[in-house]
Amino acid sequence: MRLILLGPPGAGKGTQAKRLEDKYGFIQLSTGDMLRAAVAAGSDIGKQAETIMARGDLVPNEIVVGIIAERISQPDAAKGYILDGFPRNVPQAEALDAMLEGRGAKLDAVVELEVDDGILLQRIETRAAETVGGPRADDNAEALAKRLKVYHEQTAPLVAYYKGKGTLRSVDGMKDMDEVTRQIEAVLGLSNKKGNWLKRLTGKK
Ligand code: ADP
Repeated sequence: MRLILLGPPGAGKGTQAKRLEDKYGFIQLSTGDMLRAAVAAGSDIGKQAETIMARGDLVPNEIVVGIIAERISQPDAAKGYILDGFPRNVPQAEALDAMLEGRGAKLDAVVELEVDDGILLQRIETRAAETVGGPRADDNAEALAKRLKVYHEQTAPLVAYYKGKGTLRSVDGMKDMDEVTRQIEAVLGLSNKKGNWLKRLTGKK
């Protein structure tokens, strides 16, 4: 299954992607995590990305598109993956379309986590306070305001983009984490499949 998780910063994309990875084996590909790893490693990409990320802006498209193109061509991505934090604007979405088309692959679904801005600020303050080793460089009020602005201006148009393609599924990201997971499984038809598999195994009808 090839999936995109779409939603504002703090919507829970990372948490839900991890759960789907653990449960179904689709690997989580988070451009934010990859870029943070590049920053930590001090690579050329990391050096280019560090200050941009810290202020809450988007890293240039050619960098993230390059990272994703490289990553999805690796063998472990063949079974499927969950894109978390990519694409973040229409040009990135178009680049992804071209990449998939070139590989003869298609996207199964785009799951949008709908969350109000008011809750996001609260969630990110909690996350900043709870992060072991200190908060992320961009989990502060100023950078968050910028990330939200960037989300609304550049990423939110992807909702219409994928709606137009018929792949968009929306879930209520303000419910508790387990309920959000259930809703995602439901819109992807995973809960039924798993149920059927269990029924076959146990012989129950
Ligand atoms: P969040 O969803 O909480 O904002 P992420 O970990 O997804 O956090 O991203 C952190 C930062 O990494 C972004 O603010 C941006 O600077 C950079 N980044 C991540 N993904 C992309 C992307 N697809 N395009 C450009 N920049 C990105």
